Amino acid sequence: MKVPQFDIARQYRSMKAEIGDAVNEVLESGQYVLGKWVKDIEQSVAQATGARHGIGVASGTDALALALIACDVKPGDEVITSPFSFVSVAEVAIRMGAKPVFVDIDRKTFNIDPGDLEKKITDKTTAIIPVHLYGQSVDMDAVMKLAEGKGIAVIEDAAQAIGARYKDKPVCSIGTMSCLSFYPTKNLGCFGDGGMVLTNDDSLAERAESLRRHGQAEKYKYRFVGLNSRLDSLQAAILLAKFGKLEKWTEARRRIASRYDELLKSTPVETPYVSDFAYHVYHQYTILTDARDDLRAFLAEKGVGTATHYPIGLHRQEAYADLGYKEGDLPNCDWAAERVISLPMFPELEEAEVDHVGTAIQEFFKNG
Ligand SMILES: *Cc1c(COP(=O)(O)O)cnc(C)c1O
Repeated sequence: MKVPQFDIARQYRSMKAEIGDAVNEVLESGQYVLGKWVKDIEQSVAQATGARHGIGVASGTDALALALIACDVKPGDEVITSPFSFVSVAEVAIRMGAKPVFVDIDRKTFNIDPGDLEKKITDKTTAIIPVHLYGQSVDMDAVMKLAEGKGIAVIEDAAQAIGARYKDKPVCSIGTMSCLSFYPTKNLGCFGDGGMVLTNDDSLAERAESLRRHGQAEKYKYRFVGLNSRLDSLQAAILLAKFGKLEKWTEARRRIASRYDELLKSTPVETPYVSDFAYHVYHQYTILTDARDDLRAFLAEKGVGTATHYPIGLHRQEAYADLGYKEGDLPNCDWAAERVISLPMFPELEEAEVDHVGTAIQEFFKNG
């Protein structure tokens, strides 16, 4: 049996007619950028996440860039974030002349460790970007408390966590601003690039909305130095067609996760730890094992696709060598990078496939 780590085409095939209708409607309308579909998805996502405003943009990476610009992060400022994540935050901070400062992670949740965060805050810190990794919320009370009263913006990177909750609050409703990605692999994915900035702050929303259109207030009048980062109507219409199913898909991910938990109980792998405060949406189901590379190879032989999120911390990447981190500076990040494997995870996975993956892992440890 072949079980892919991810397969978005299954989702498309399950709703081909609806997607086709949505796409045709946009094509017939003659309106291809921003417009009513974008407004509708902005409203739907904002409402579901409890944020007052949603601003559709061209990608999750752009959402982070726009949030940093809107929050007035300037050259020389320090932006604190996780080294155990996708590269976007580090990249956009540096593009703005700011300096990314990496906080070590917690070994159980893989999210930033508030204790280390406290040590990394200086008088140059103007933003903290917690990443809700794999679909599980960061300890947001701890982060908000550390930022409070210091003029530090908290920007939630919720690219992997749409629908997740911290205590009773949805992610994206807590920080100063929040960012989502609709890249096809995300829990709500479009058929290209897309993203969204969310905020409860009216004036930040107005800035972000203007910034995505070159900083225009009205046509050809520029209030801010902006960029071109608009969500297009086709992606918005596709997202709208999918949005109503997101909750069901999240439930399916959670069911698959608890089946994996059950199947792996008898093995030495560490299954995902879920914090008391978290409603986990399992963007990834990521396990820990000392035998990572051998297990990956064994699973590949059994037809099971896996992935490593992430094999090298951002502080150890060639592109970020100038930041001056050395081996041992962020030991928990390095430790996790050597031990994580993400198993197949998407809502359309069938029970027999999940069982095949679980049984293969049991077999590996029995024989090993
Ligand atoms: C995917 C992702 C991004 C970037 O989103 P894009 O839409 O691909 O630009 C940023 N942060 C995290 C944590 C992500 O997973």
